[in-house]
Amino acid sequence: MDDLKFGVRNKRGDWTPNKPVEYAPLFQFPTRFMAILKWLPHYFLPWNVIFAISAVAYWAWVIPSVETMQTISVGWVAWLYGVNAVCVFLFYGAFELHLYVLKRQENRFKYNGKFPADQKSKAFWFESQNLDNILRTFLSGVTIWTALEVGMLWAYANGYAPWLSFAENPWTLALVALVVPVIHEFHFFCVHRLIHTPFLYKWVHSVHHNSVNPSPWSSLSMHPVEHLLYFGTVFYHLVLPSNPIIMLYQLHYAGFGAIPGHVGFDKVEVGDDKLVDSHAYAHYLHHKYFEVNYGDALIPLDRWFGTWHDGSPEGDARMQERYKRRKEKLAAKKASSETQEAAR
Ligand SMILES: [Zn+2]
Ligand SMILES: [Zn+2]
Repeated sequence: MDDLKFGVRNKRGDWTPNKPVEYAPLFQFPTRFMAILKWLPHYFLPWNVIFAISAVAYWAWVIPSVETMQTISVGWVAWLYGVNAVCVFLFYGAFELHLYVLKRQENRFKYNGKFPADQKSKAFWFESQNLDNILRTFLSGVTIWTALEVGMLWAYANGYAPWLSFAENPWTLALVALVVPVIHEFHFFCVHRLIHTPFLYKWVHSVHHNSVNPSPWSSLSMHPVEHLLYFGTVFYHLVLPSNPIIMLYQLHYAGFGAIPGHVGFDKVEVGDDKLVDSHAYAHYLHHKYFEVNYGDALIPLDRWFGTWHDGSPEGDARMQERYKRRKEKLAAKKASSETQEAAR
């Protein structure tokens, strides 16, 4: 597949898409019905359908009986950790194997021309991005994911969370399932913006940002506090009229859904002529420039807050202008405090 039909490659080997990233046509006024209709299949396919099916499969084959879940015990908690770990290993590992180990599409559609394995960095445990990212994923990522899952299932089993049945409330539950990605986007934007405040950035979020050139295992490479905030998206189901399967979908949307944004490739080649969009560019730009794109372009939150970068030269100019203004503001503040100091 010729990736230069879709973008350009610079001297360093970094590939950039020709088309700027677009916001989902939701929450745009006036409403563009045709645009929404055209966009709608992308809302479901392929990623959201995969995460929703995985939640149903968990409910059918993995989650223990309600009686078992009324009391927390090592047996079923360890079982859930095991299944989550195996699923993460297989799902993340499939991308890693296909794109980074076997390099089946070499650097076609790859934003950063370099592969993390070729660059050692002291920022990582054992100076290896992959080893560091994998350890953080399984040590705290899957552990905190499982802990919140266990807590929510225990709450459902004991009647502490609103549990509607699909037979009696199909429309309410369909609506809640439909807004799962919207809840995720809103929650992710808020916690992500929060951990970009100077103190929390240094203490917590810088761990995730060590991966300037993200690869599949970077997805859940976070500080435990960030894992807790990130997977905290399930707590909305303590107050929403919901169902454990939708709660699992919310959790899988966060856990497995982190992958497409960190895959490092704009499109994944499937077979000889099929391409699957990763929708990773907005978040890739976040890893590259740090202070843009706190969200993933489902709700135009970054545009409303002035932090949107769509990858175009105009987007770049807007970012530079914002950085310049902030620098000027800081310099003015410093100058005024120095004048005050001198006047004393
Ligand atoms: Zn990231
Ligand atoms: Zn960030």
